Amino acid sequence: MNLEKVKESLNKYQATLHLDSYSRRENLISEMSKLEAQGTDCSKCSGFCCTYYHNSMQVTPLEAIEILIELMESDRLNDETIERLKANSKKYRLDNEITDGHGRILRRYYTCPFFNDHSLGCSLSRRAKPYGCLAFNAIEKNVSVEGKCKSQSGLLEQREKEFSEVESNLNNELQSSLKLYWIKKPITQALLDMMMQMSI
Ligand code: SF4
Ligand code: SF4
Repeated sequence: MNLEKVKESLNKYQATLHLDSYSRRENLISEMSKLEAQGTDCSKCSGFCCTYYHNSMQVTPLEAIEILIELMESDRLNDETIERLKANSKKYRLDNEITDGHGRILRRYYTCPFFNDHSLGCSLSRRAKPYGCLAFNAIEKNVSVEGKCKSQSGLLEQREKEFSEVESNLNNELQSSLKLYWIKKPITQALLDMMMQMSI
């Protein structure tokens, strides 16, 4: 994989697509901050939701490119990260895709490559996290066991409704220019696939 070409492409997309990753996540981030201010946070949890016991997160091309841009801007788009993604893909056999006949990849369980063990949690900033990750929060204080968290689906729907047109256009543009045949993929595979296409 040619990382210089990948970075060149990311810079081009960043300049032309007018991505506003924070605004499109703002309602989810505000709710998360509100819960944290009340003491309903993840600080006592080992991070079940990011591990293969529970995590089957899939992302769109738009969410994937926002993660790649964050990695590039924080100097983490390097050989080490690529190797980590490849090892993650191999470990959970994420490259072995099964589709539902409509271009959707069936959900697979895997420990997220951006999960730092235990309370260190997610290594992505909130402006680059997948929407589904931001919406999944503890519902009690001091959660340390499973089953005490939920996805705030109302907020996810509200966000999706507000930005569906702009996001659909951006996803279409990425799918078409990078020749992506998928709508959503596991985070690991979405990133590897996009970078592969950018290297050509
Ligand atoms: S959302 Fe729930 S399972 Fe996930 S890290 Fe927070 S407390 Fe733990
Ligand atoms: S992106 Fe972050 S919050 Fe989402 S599954 Fe990965 S480590 Fe967990």
